[in-house]
Amino acid sequence: MVKETSDSKTADLHQTPSGNRVHISFFGRRNAGKSSLVNAVTGQSLSIVSDVKGTTTDPVSKAMELLPLGPVVIIDTPGLDDAGTLGEKRVEKTYQILAKTDVAVLVIDGSDAPDPQDFALMQLLKEKQIPFIAVLNKKDLAGSDLSAYDFPFLAVSAVTGEGIAALKENIARLGKTAAPSKQLIGDKICKNDVVILVTPIDESAPKGRLILPQVQTLRDILDTHAISMVTQVSELPACLSALKEPPALVVTDSQVFHQVKEMVPRSVPLTSFSILMARFKGILDTAAQGAHFLPNLTDGNKVLISEGCTHHRQCEDIGTVKLPGWIEAFTGKKLAFHFTSGGEFPRDLSSYALVVHCGGCMLNEREMLSRMELANAQGVAFTNYGTLIAHINGILDRSLEMFHE
Ligand code: SF4
Repeated sequence: MVKETSDSKTADLHQTPSGNRVHISFFGRRNAGKSSLVNAVTGQSLSIVSDVKGTTTDPVSKAMELLPLGPVVIIDTPGLDDAGTLGEKRVEKTYQILAKTDVAVLVIDGSDAPDPQDFALMQLLKEKQIPFIAVLNKKDLAGSDLSAYDFPFLAVSAVTGEGIAALKENIARLGKTAAPSKQLIGDKICKNDVVILVTPIDESAPKGRLILPQVQTLRDILDTHAISMVTQVSELPACLSALKEPPALVVTDSQVFHQVKEMVPRSVPLTSFSILMARFKGILDTAAQGAHFLPNLTDGNKVLISEGCTHHRQCEDIGTVKLPGWIEAFTGKKLAFHFTSGGEFPRDLSSYALVVHCGGCMLNEREMLSRMELANAQGVAFTNYGTLIAHINGILDRSLEMFHE
């Protein structure tokens, strides 16, 4: 398991969500000094440091503020040169971390001879187009022939602190380009616009709070100086009639699309939180295409339903109960549903006909794009909850209209 603090697996509404944090991962061979370096950069004892090779057996991650960059998730990974069956599992975990890494720090043991695995790891980072900083650690021991490294690197010592300030500056520089700058909805509304948010409070709603996509949408509306009205479905007609003019936009929970579409006049733009999230994470076009794949499903096809966090499942859960029911009712086919949640997402998708992903509010954009690209590369249709539900309810075109230029 990836060890994560507070907000990475469950929504802690007091913190910047992990999906909006720059993910900075430290990679390298065992005993290159990754954990010491992580501790030196963060100024905290995040990872256990030991001279024994492979002390970091699982990725360790922590949400924190890294100045001058801002909110980040720092991830310390096990060595990519780990051996044996357990080692293979750890290496697999490290590849999962690669999928969400915005900025990589490649840690090389500066006291050792150059190793082909360091060069292979660098090649992998280049192939995946992950911005990285090569760091020659253990400068204080200085046993290595530095002329062997024919690429730019920073020489540092986690022990003496030499070069750590420069490393932090470089991380901040690369991290700034990866920091999320998009808006969920703010670029589609104006100051003083009225936006109605339809948020059903049923047995599947978390007790005493709203869910993250709803909170993020509210915050975006406030940032734009627009006006939000939050209502349940039953009060939506009263809400609409209370307004002198129609609202600029209605955003609904996807699960009640079928009721809300009957209440909101056709002239009023209507979309869902999940569709907003799909656009925010850069997967909307693919998700819309994937929704149109539904009629191609045949009996026995495998469908993967994937959620980005491991929230507590309620009866009538949307992912495991409602969606499978709606998909089978719409297609008239008997399908085999598989489920994943949190950091788990199979690298081999070839046995699936369709992947249906949640909004992914807890995942960063790079991880959502990695999952989508994995499906694309294997010719597997990929969509998300809200887009699929809008299609099933015959209002996908309407719910995408507001995004057309
Ligand atoms: S949208 Fe996905 S990641 Fe966000 S709370 Fe729902 S299941 Fe979790």
